Amino acid sequence: SESSRKLSIIGVTAGYDKADVLKNVNVEAKPGQVTCILGANGAGKSTLIRTILGLNRARKGEIYFGGDAIARMPTHRIAALGIATVPEGNRVLPKMTVSENLKVGGLLIRDNARVAARMEELFETFPRLKERSGQLAGTLSGGERSMLSIARGLMTDPELIVFDEPSLGLSPLFVSEVFAIVKRLKAAGLSILLVEQNVRQTLRVADYGYVLVQGQVMAEGDSETLMQNPELHRAYFGVH
Ligand code: ATP
Repeated sequence: SESSRKLSIIGVTAGYDKADVLKNVNVEAKPGQVTCILGANGAGKSTLIRTILGLNRARKGEIYFGGDAIARMPTHRIAALGIATVPEGNRVLPKMTVSENLKVGGLLIRDNARVAARMEELFETFPRLKERSGQLAGTLSGGERSMLSIARGLMTDPELIVFDEPSLGLSPLFVSEVFAIVKRLKAAGLSILLVEQNVRQTLRVADYGYVLVQGQVMAEGDSETLMQNPELHRAYFGVH
């Protein structure tokens, strides 16, 4: 559904055991925009996603989705507010059919008729999935699997969808397909938080971005400005 709420991550510190991974992170994802978080391996991208989804607790700071403070909310309540995720590498449940994967995405929806109706809507958006609805997800092509994992994330009709490195492990053709889907979702009014290592293609679809280096936001700006940013080049291309 069309989004109206902003995600605000304010001064968040989070980590594991004694070590802080994220240090005083400030990030905003505005409604209807594509916001990206760029970061190399180990920068803290997964930790940030886990913290947004309530899988990992912020030690300091707060996270708001619209008027709701979510940093201490359980994951299912955060999901019920309208935040969904597409897991890293576009994972699907390989031994389940396409339809069954979508049903799993709709587990939070109590009403079976609503689940069926939502599945039909998504089959209209992704006709290829309809053709393959009875096929085991593990036998789909890479592009179809990505489509399925995205559609599964959309089952709850979220306002904000958090993508965890959707281009990871995909061939260039499928990467382009995934970014094309991101553009379509933005056009439909969704808010998107795109966590990625693929700098060039991500900045092409994003409105605004943040560069995460060793758990800290080292740079931020709109995509065109960020493309020229020396911190980004330093973080990614080793230019000093
Ligand atoms: P990648 O792209 O490789 O997934 P990332 O940017 O997602 O990297 P994180 O997975 O958030 O980075 O990891 C950031 C740091 O936190 C790393 O130093 C990692 O070793 C550490 N870390 C991640 N998960 C745990 C954990 N469960 N326990 C302890 N340390 C962890």
